[in-house]
Amino acid sequence: MPTSKRKSLNKTKSHDAPKVAKPAALVAVWEDDPGDPKLQPPLTPIQVGAPNQAAQPFAFKLGGSIPPPAIYQAGTTNFRFYATAAALRRTADFWSKIVPSGTTWQVGKVLPVNVDDGVDLNAFYTRGDFQDGPGLHFFHEAVAGRTYFSGESPDICCHEMGHAVLDAIRPQLFDAQTIEAAAFHESFGDMSAMLSDLQVASFREEVIQETEGTLNRSSRVSRLAEQLGAAIRVQHPDLVDPDCLRNAANSFFYSDPQTLPPSAPASSLSSEPHSFSRVFSAAFLDALAGMFKLQSSSPTADDLETTSRDIAQILVNAIGTAPIVPDYYSQVAAHMVAASQTAPFDGKYKDVLRSSFVRRGILSLQAAATISSVQVHNFPKAAMTAGKNRIPASLPKASISAAAYGLSRTSLMVHTAEDAKRFAVTSASLTLGAVEPRAPQNAAESFTEDLFQRGRVDVGKYGQLGTGPVHRLAFQTHIVVEEKGDLVLKRRAFDCGLTAG
Ligand SMILES: [Zn+2]
Repeated sequence: MPTSKRKSLNKTKSHDAPKVAKPAALVAVWEDDPGDPKLQPPLTPIQVGAPNQAAQPFAFKLGGSIPPPAIYQAGTTNFRFYATAAALRRTADFWSKIVPSGTTWQVGKVLPVNVDDGVDLNAFYTRGDFQDGPGLHFFHEAVAGRTYFSGESPDICCHEMGHAVLDAIRPQLFDAQTIEAAAFHESFGDMSAMLSDLQVASFREEVIQETEGTLNRSSRVSRLAEQLGAAIRVQHPDLVDPDCLRNAANSFFYSDPQTLPPSAPASSLSSEPHSFSRVFSAAFLDALAGMFKLQSSSPTADDLETTSRDIAQILVNAIGTAPIVPDYYSQVAAHMVAASQTAPFDGKYKDVLRSSFVRRGILSLQAAATISSVQVHNFPKAAMTAGKNRIPASLPKASISAAAYGLSRTSLMVHTAEDAKRFAVTSASLTLGAVEPRAPQNAAESFTEDLFQRGRVDVGKYGQLGTGPVHRLAFQTHIVVEEKGDLVLKRRAFDCGLTAG
């Protein structure tokens, strides 16, 4: 029959025709953050191809219906959809080229994203083991007549997805009951935001211009979440930096976090993980700046792209091998210096990295000397995470006293940071020389006390009425559950900032 013949011919023809990829429709998105209109002129969105949420290995899915790709006006729901989706795709594409092959989300093949989960000035990542659905959660809140959406900011999206990426490559950190592991998770979120932003070509040009090539100056790349910072500043001016939520261009020097108060104004360091994260983020920005200058006498935006990939690779290699211990910052730093000495970097960045960490006290001078004397060929090549199946996905548990916390039992099990060290290095103390490393049990007790003091623990039915601190104002990152007859402290989520109620 003629009709079916024609159909068949057409089919053959279309099968034989060369496949030409259809260009993705364009959508309008932000480069890094919608910005703080009080501090800077309004920013103009850029146009990018509509993001493919399903691309592996780091697929994600925003809840709700997908608006047809188009250039939407900033301030509309459809604009925000693509602002979130494009920012997450940028982060997912970046890290998927850096992480060991076979790395997958902890929550399954697709990371769910709730673009607006209610009223708050916050966002969080969770595995979804407790009351929240797994994945990323963003919020909105009206402040002084203006409604802020945390998911509209690429800085916040890339920070939250950073938690999910780090959880994919080093799941043992999730429940590690030590201040430095929790703070490093926050720093990784901020580093993820900086590195993801730098994948936008126009943004690289702007940052080089703004900093005159000295990248550790305050700039749009160092300032995290200007808009959310502006919203929080209205109600709690001392909780955030004057120009953003957190600025990696800061002058904080390492202190043993167990000697710091559990909270403090943004101008001081506290043991609160977001606050303490700023020490590591600052060293990272210093290192990025130094590595960029090594590329040529007048490094370009392309050199900056190369630098961003190199430092991310060194960071991920180090995370794969650094043991999880109470003084985790110094271990990651030492392993970054070591990773920079192996191929393909071959020592090019070694001195920059070492001096960046010494300058912040994350490595003591003695530590820096120790790393230099280690034979790189003895350094283990296999990442601890590459064999995720070979090592347990969580740290061992130990019992600590819960007498002060108003629980129905007197002891509480927590996951302690007690991997074996490869480098006997520590951070610098403020007096002279290196700090004495804390014991895992002691570090766990200290972090637990901090969490209860800040009201970050949901004790649920295990709290005794009328005893212990009761806070309903803070976002609760941890929860007490019962496992095999013991009360166990578990992490519920990593959030992006500070909720003061
Ligand atoms: Zn966070």
